[in-house]
Amino acid sequence: MSGTFSCDVLVVGAGIAGLMAARRLEAAGKTVVVVDREERVGGRIVTEHVAGGWVDTGAQFFTVRDAEFGQFVAEWLAEGLVFVWSTGWSDGSLLPPTNDAYPRYAAREGLTAVPRRLAQDLIIHKAVNIESVMPVAGEWIAVSDSGVAYQCQALILTPPAPLSLALLKAGQVELTATDGAALAAITYAPCITAVCHIDGAVNLPEPGVLQRPDHAISWIADNRRKGTSPDVCLVSLHVNPTYSRLWWLSPEEELVGALRRELRPFLATDATIKEISLHRWPYALPTTLYPHKTLRAVGLPPLAFAGDAFAGPRVEGAALSGLAAAQAILDAIG
Ligand SMILES: Cc1cc2nc3c(=O)[nH]c(=O)nc-3n(C[C@H](O)[C@H](O)[C@H](O)COP(=O)(O)OP(=O)(O)OC[C@H]3O[C@@H](n4cnc5c(N)ncnc54)[C@H](O)[C@@H]3O)c2cc1C
Repeated sequence: MSGTFSCDVLVVGAGIAGLMAARRLEAAGKTVVVVDREERVGGRIVTEHVAGGWVDTGAQFFTVRDAEFGQFVAEWLAEGLVFVWSTGWSDGSLLPPTNDAYPRYAAREGLTAVPRRLAQDLIIHKAVNIESVMPVAGEWIAVSDSGVAYQCQALILTPPAPLSLALLKAGQVELTATDGAALAAITYAPCITAVCHIDGAVNLPEPGVLQRPDHAISWIADNRRKGTSPDVCLVSLHVNPTYSRLWWLSPEEELVGALRRELRPFLATDATIKEISLHRWPYALPTTLYPHKTLRAVGLPPLAFAGDAFAGPRVEGAALSGLAAAQAILDAIG
């Protein structure tokens, strides 16, 4: 892709925050372009094809606590896009599973079905890695590493905060001291995840999940029982934040060896681990959040920041943040 594109609002990032923002802006009659450096939409919601099955390799499920997000989810439920996977998980003890009455939603085709649905009818430029953004004559110009340029009245940045700050720095944009400090204070925990291809039986409590936040392997899920991989046994493992930091630079063979040992007690004696594929997420979950759903930059052409680090973590927080950023931009440009 090459050339210069013009739009009312450019949204950087086609994760759930960016897609929600774009839909809200389009519904208000704005011309919107969403760009993402990946070849796909969804960001940290991603479903991958592994050994003949499908598996969610980022977010595993989502919950709903806010009525505004609940309206979207009610539609997705009615369409059969998502289903209630569970209302709690076992921690592996003899205690009953935690049951906080919040349904955990998943999608049979994998969670990526949700961003794909949100992306329908939007203008999305994939595989466009924005390298810098800068204000010019009261508008914004964003430029990709392959030289594609976007000229827009307003800008929404949804990448994790350190990446958004890097785009501004590359464009030599000066935020106010307050905005700069607030964005620099946002932090994230990393997460090492693995997908294990198993030949044989896996023993996990109902509904095929174990969640133990204090254990090195904090999440173990059988995707055959989840329904995304009915024919192939794929088990997802997540390493908790403490061990993800500790093991971050470990060579792949060492990590695979450690994960094999951790997984073994949950497999039938005659089961074999055929393959383990790893993924390292540097910005998996926000740990220090900005206290509001969006940050509208002061002293610059209309610019709003959104994502899961803005007032509510995880899929729901990101979605609500995207909606709030869209509203902030509509308030600014009318
Ligand atoms: C392993 C893992 C497990 C998780 N489990 C859960 C869970 O079970 N439940 C839950 O609710 N949440 C979970 N989460 C968190 C959830 O996935 C996120 O909170 C949510 O998806 C964040 O959405 P977002 O739109 O804010 O950011 P992202 O999804 O990260 O979207 C940002 C987008 O910006 C793009 N981008 C970045 N830089 C550029 C650039 N320079 N140019 C163009 N595009 C760019 C990225 O490619 C990305 O698509 C998990 C996350 C991880 C990593």
